[in-house]
Amino acid sequence: MVPELQGTPASVDPLTGTMLVSAQWWNSASFDERLFVLLHECGHLEAQGGEFEADRWALDTYAQKGYSLKGAVLAFTHIMPFTTTEQYQRGTALLRQALQLQHSPTGSNR
Ligand SMILES: [Zn+2]
Repeated sequence: MVPELQGTPASVDPLTGTMLVSAQWWNSASFDERLFVLLHECGHLEAQGGEFEADRWALDTYAQKGYSLKGAVLAFTHIMPFTTTEQYQRGTALLRQALQLQHSPTGSNR
């Protein structure tokens, strides 16, 4: 936990696995927002990928643990500033994945 991070609630170093979380953000975040961000950072390590792969891994794990997919998607919309095209694309991909998981909870890959 660090006092504040610029432009992100958390980050992870893929080489060391060290995760930094903004205390300022954490203290005002909901349970779903905290969980999604932590799983997203773990996703960078587990999926060894970028933002889209980390989001996908986070939502898959969210679903496997039985948490609300709606909660995860809403958390994402609260966290994202939506100032870039990529952020909208990530939101769209996440919603699509959530809908697929909702209709096929055990075996959604694409
Ligand atoms: Zn990320």
